[in-house]
Amino acid sequence: MNRIAVPRFQRPGLRAGVLGLSGGLVIAAAFLIAANVSDHLATTATNEAVRTTAAVVHGYVDPMVMAGSLETPDAAHAALINGELAQLVSSHQILRIKIWSPNGTILYSDLPALVGQTFPVDDELAEALDGEVATEYSSGDQPENVYERGLATHFLSIYLPIEVGGHVAGAYEIYEDAAPIEAQIAATRQDVLLIVGAMAMGLLALLFGAFSGASHLLARQTRRLRRNAERFRSLVQNSADVNMVVRPDWTIAYESPAVERVLGYPAAGHVRRSALEMLHPDDRPWAEQLLAEIVRIPGAQITGELRARHADGSWRLIELVLKNLLNDPAVAGVVVNYRDITVRRELEDELKRQAFHDSLTGLANRALFADRLEHAIARSRRLRGPLAVLFVDLDDFKTVNDSLGHTEGDQLLVGVAHRLQSVLRAGDTIARMGGDEFAVLVEDPSDAEAPNEVAGRLLGSLEAPFMLGSKEVFVHASVGIAASGPSILSGEELLRNADVAMYTAKNNGKNRVEDFRPSMHEAALARLALKGDLERAMERGEFRLLYQPIIHLESSRLIGVEALIRWDRGDRLVGPDEFIPVAEETGLILPLGKWVLEEACRQLHAWDTTSTRRLKMSVNVSGRQLQQAGFVAEVAGALASTGVRPDRLTLELTETVLMQDAEAATATLADLKWLGVRLAIDDFGTGYSSLSYLRRFPIDELKIDRSFIASMADGPEQAAVVLSILRLGETLHLETVAEGIELEGQMTALVGLGADLGQGFFFSAALTPTAITGILDEVTWQAGELAREPADAQSEAVRVA
Ligand code: C2E
Ligand code: CA
Ligand code: CA
Repeated sequence: MNRIAVPRFQRPGLRAGVLGLSGGLVIAAAFLIAANVSDHLATTATNEAVRTTAAVVHGYVDPMVMAGSLETPDAAHAALINGELAQLVSSHQILRIKIWSPNGTILYSDLPALVGQTFPVDDELAEALDGEVATEYSSGDQPENVYERGLATHFLSIYLPIEVGGHVAGAYEIYEDAAPIEAQIAATRQDVLLIVGAMAMGLLALLFGAFSGASHLLARQTRRLRRNAERFRSLVQNSADVNMVVRPDWTIAYESPAVERVLGYPAAGHVRRSALEMLHPDDRPWAEQLLAEIVRIPGAQITGELRARHADGSWRLIELVLKNLLNDPAVAGVVVNYRDITVRRELEDELKRQAFHDSLTGLANRALFADRLEHAIARSRRLRGPLAVLFVDLDDFKTVNDSLGHTEGDQLLVGVAHRLQSVLRAGDTIARMGGDEFAVLVEDPSDAEAPNEVAGRLLGSLEAPFMLGSKEVFVHASVGIAASGPSILSGEELLRNADVAMYTAKNNGKNRVEDFRPSMHEAALARLALKGDLERAMERGEFRLLYQPIIHLESSRLIGVEALIRWDRGDRLVGPDEFIPVAEETGLILPLGKWVLEEACRQLHAWDTTSTRRLKMSVNVSGRQLQQAGFVAEVAGALASTGVRPDRLTLELTETVLMQDAEAATATLADLKWLGVRLAIDDFGTGYSSLSYLRRFPIDELKIDRSFIASMADGPEQAAVVLSILRLGETLHLETVAEGIELEGQMTALVGLGADLGQGFFFSAALTPTAITGILDEVTWQAGELAREPADAQSEAVRVA
């Protein structure tokens, strides 16, 4: 039992009464008188104590109550009270103080462990909470009063109501040491016993005792009853609900005062008038019906909702419970209990809205879209009307989002949602399915072209740039369309088909629309099969590395190689473009990338043992690898296990990969740099971001994308792009490698522009390790030779030729 602080008191008067009935009459009477006298003494002493302690406590606590800070006494007040209490406690005037809230929670106690605990409200506390001062007297002999027993042998406990503005807000409870009264009581009891014993006035005493006891009990009982009645009345009056008794025609017979609070009318102002007057005209027939129904069945109960007019003119939503008590003579009417649920309903509606809408854009969410789609399909089954689902996915939004930051990314999404919605008919549903994906439900397209028209409008709406602050941002999207034809599909199938079509639109170059065709589904299935095959390929060791030579252009010397992965499927070598995206999706890229690193380092070491030529090794790294926590350790491990010096390894990263999570990338790159490996930006010039990151990331090398090399011959402008990248490299002290050199003319032009290094089919496609071993010790590169005449049947050149 955690009830520590409230000792179980026994009222002397009552205890005497009980003894009197079971023991000798004379002694009983004597005790009774003694008890009454001591009761009186205790009361006098208590009154005195109440006055002094109340004065002290009121002095400190009342300002807090007035300031409304009783619930959370601030530090200053608490310190003040604590100081005063410490004094009182040391002077032994007060042993303990508590402040109770009306529900039995201790708001304040000088014993901090009690604060915040809630106990059942006992009789004396209830009296105080009813506005009366209650006192008790106890030896604190309960086990839970261990602490009090250490303070004194007997206690006087005083409960004082705390009143604020006429209402009882709580109660103080104060313990005083009762020893002085105790002594007085004992003395009186002895005196009285002597006198009574000498007089031997048994009968008189018995009569007196009986009357006194009975009247005492009666008074107590009456007080309790009165209190209960008052409590009930106050419950009805202060209840948030209005209680009303109506006749079978809605005439009001009684109305509780709460009507003033709920509907703003003066209490009882409507008695003998019809309650229907207060109701919304549209709800009146229903209300009449409701009452007519219930009147027929005695004791029946019905719940309903109606709109009632508030005195301020507004309509409030009322929830009411009607109970037929016409047969109950005490009521003889229908009891109507009602409350205002307007705010609650608004809250419910808001929650419902939140559950079915995307909080960022305010569009429908996936759940609502699915619901609308199912309804639309049911309707289309009935009416044989067509319907279509459009799946919209923003192009490269992740890159845009990462470079903008999430707040502006969100802002952009809101803008996009707004534009998409603005070009739809009112009847069409648009939803945000998550991230940068949207879906549109087009019901009853007017003709077969309609969904495509809608898609065109959607893409058109995104054409103009978005303004984010002073920045112009361009956003495009890919759209897939799935229409339900004669064979009506489920909502799930429609959505999946639209998704597959969208995916095809992405693969076909983005910023475009594709209609779903079953063959697309096959392609999607093939991808799925590929996932399984890839996993097995990893287990079976079907991956190979080929190495494309990197040449010093002016001297034609082989200076390094780039490791390029192939999947050996037995009948053919599959290129990375076919499986790297899927491996990234499934996460297989992590073990695969680790294998590439280890294998490339192992191969480099093997060449070191057969030749004096020290090649450099370039390895491609995907975004997921870079983001992986243990990546730096993985690189270090590959180097350590093969003994390859870190500066002979170059990791190639694309701009997109670097920008995916620039913050994290910066940290990882710094670690890699610390390790001593070289870092290159692959496909340089094709990425989204600006040049600022070139300074931000510790880059050693730029690989000029082959598209620039290919278009160099188109005109001076195109050549100027290559030149400017070369100059940029010079300025920032970065090595440059021209990729995709296919023609001699490109090579000479590059040399003319001052390019240093290059790779491409003009020199060689990717070769097997053996083929590289064969040319390692050649002094200069025989330009073009290998491209025309592959040294090895498995070389890349076979495939390319
Ligand atoms: P990349 O890093 O730009 O690699 C160069 C690609 O260009 C190679 O394609 C190469 O065969 C091809 N190429 C080389 N010279 C010429 C040329 O003169 N003309 C043309 N048209 N193409 C040329 P590949 O091997 O199919 O690799 C494609 C992409 O796959 C690579 O582009 C790289 O991003 C990725 N990749 C290759 N191996 C790996 C790897 O081990 N890990 C990861 N994560 N990605 C890899
Ligand atoms: Ca590369
Ligand atoms: Ca490249």
